[in-house]
Amino acid sequence: MSLEYGDTIGILGDGQLGRMLAGAAARLGFRTISFGPGEDSPAGQVCGRHFTASYDDSAALTEFASHCDVVTVEFENVPVSAAETVISTGTPFRPGANALSVAQDRVEEKRFLEDAGIACAPWRAIDSLEDLIAAHAALGPDAILKTRRDGYDGKGQVRLSTDSDLAAAWAELGAQPAILEGFVAFKLEISAVIARGADGAVAAYAPSRNVHEGGILRRAIVPAPVATDVASKAQTLAARLTERLDYVGVLALEFFVLADGKLLANEFAPRVHNSGHWTPEACMTGQFENHIRAVAGWPLGKASLLHGAEMENLIGEDAAAPVEDLLARGHLTLYGKREIRPGRKMGHLVRLRPL
Ligand code: AMP
Repeated sequence: MSLEYGDTIGILGDGQLGRMLAGAAARLGFRTISFGPGEDSPAGQVCGRHFTASYDDSAALTEFASHCDVVTVEFENVPVSAAETVISTGTPFRPGANALSVAQDRVEEKRFLEDAGIACAPWRAIDSLEDLIAAHAALGPDAILKTRRDGYDGKGQVRLSTDSDLAAAWAELGAQPAILEGFVAFKLEISAVIARGADGAVAAYAPSRNVHEGGILRRAIVPAPVATDVASKAQTLAARLTERLDYVGVLALEFFVLADGKLLANEFAPRVHNSGHWTPEACMTGQFENHIRAVAGWPLGKASLLHGAEMENLIGEDAAAPVEDLLARGHLTLYGKREIRPGRKMGHLVRLRPL
């Protein structure tokens, strides 16, 4: 299946990633329709049409899919049932329902990564306080308890140490299915953003170093300060993951880098990723364009790095600075969100550097 220009790409999700995908799609001559619960959403503002509906509204999803030549996602917590409804209409869905389903459950995700030969931090599935007590004893006192589902930007996580009250931690998480992970004393965090085309070709971006503050990505810096073999290992593992998932589109695989250069995968996102927001400015082809090319069945563009770059997220009040100041600090992208809220991603800046 390959699209002609003028065809329509449907985007499940209505956030900034959808907005930037729509921009890349428009440049290549495609129409876009977004679907999500938000009124006046970042994606809805720029797509030719927006369906304001919930992801379990199968009538709205069917109507949406009937106007699209392919449907993709910009938000990984779109219910798998929404993807299945789209697929049942005969409209192709890329990257595929399986990738969404695996990425939505931290236990399934870890199993899938390990089956693909991608090492992770030690972990245990937790379904009860008894499981937590046993796993905490087995994995050592320094650990992180995370919800299996619906966690993002560090939400749904409790850090545990020697004298933690496990019953309180279990209650704090809402006594819901969870995962306990051993705490990794990493040197730094990197991510490998990669595009895989419908023909199986891949375009791997240089891994970026990711700096988080309060669980939210603050900066992505490229090239990451890691040895060449560590960077290429991250790309190889990301390529293997996309192949195992029979994936079409852009995916990001996040890693912890240990002091000896060993890589432990943390999680993957089946979509374009915040840690790849520097790619349009710094690479031959940006992540949004490559995702659109992939889901359209078009050949991928090269991911080669043309410049070093630093991407800085504008979070909450960061975006209240005078626009002149923001423009003076780098290439500015704003997401069209009128309301500033603490922790809300409002836009980002990209500063280029010589390689
Ligand atoms: P996550 O939601 O899993 O991406 O976690 C958010 C952030 O918490 C990560 O980017 C890390 O900085 C930190 N983190 C998550 N899991 C671990 C772990 N097992 N060991 C150490 N730090 C972690």
